[in-house]
Amino acid sequence: MTNKEILARTIMEYIPTKQKVYLHHALELINAKVKRFYLYGFNDIPLNCNIEITSECNRNCIYCKRKNNKKYIIGIDTFKSLINQLKDMGFKGRFAPVQFNEPFLDKLLYERLSYVKTVLKCSIIVYTNGDFLNHKKVKRFSHLIDDLRITLHNPISKDRVAYLSSLKEVFSFVSILDMRESKRRFILNNLGGSLEIEKGIKINHCCHINSLYIRANGDVVLCCNDVFGKYIFGNIYEKSLISIWNSFSKLRMEISKGQHRLKICKNCYNGLEIKKKRY
Ligand code: SF4
Ligand code: SF4
Repeated sequence: MTNKEILARTIMEYIPTKQKVYLHHALELINAKVKRFYLYGFNDIPLNCNIEITSECNRNCIYCKRKNNKKYIIGIDTFKSLINQLKDMGFKGRFAPVQFNEPFLDKLLYERLSYVKTVLKCSIIVYTNGDFLNHKKVKRFSHLIDDLRITLHNPISKDRVAYLSSLKEVFSFVSILDMRESKRRFILNNLGGSLEIEKGIKINHCCHINSLYIRANGDVVLCCNDVFGKYIFGNIYEKSLISIWNSFSKLRMEISKGQHRLKICKNCYNGLEIKKKRY
């Protein structure tokens, strides 16, 4: 752990839980607003873009809602077309090839991220369970990925945890998020009501709504919390990205102002830890 991380953790320990959740949300919101204004001024362009390149994951975590998903994959030509469309829209935000999946299962990941870097020249964040990672692979992707977050899930051996943690010491863009039961004291979102979390705090001003979320079946959905893909604004195989994005601009504006007319937004909370013991 770096000195900065130790200092941040120590400060956080002295802040009461409820305030901690508020603080976390406020910081996320400020960060999103400042970043958006810096990148686009008042133009309505997605802050981030998440493309779920495959619906697959090798794990089956009991708290993960993705397990009922069918198998889908976004073909490389379709993927490149989406990246070209993002460029035409003036996208400069952060790109992620993930939503509810394991991106390193995709054999074309390197080709996809290379294309993103070449065409969009934007930053790339990748969340992974780390099962397919080793030193060599991280090195290979190091010029493409700006932020690689390894989430640790049970079951995992101590040796494997130690190995994945050692990657962080070698590569500055790697971080570890320990999601195992005994460690899970992060501030989590309740996925629009699909998870029960401790100390839930209502989210009034959403910082996720100004990003683009494309599921592996091609549906453009409301946000990263729409696990079951219920709020669909169009499908990339039927319409252009720009027309889908523009079709729900009024809704985005309302949600940004805290006007929540959708059930999922009414049930959306930030909080600490998932309530029930899951393993
Ligand atoms: S590793 Fe992540 S995506 Fe895969 S089942 Fe677990 S929580 Fe879900
Ligand atoms: S469910 Fe609604 S309020 Fe919650 S993150 Fe998604 S868009 Fe924002």
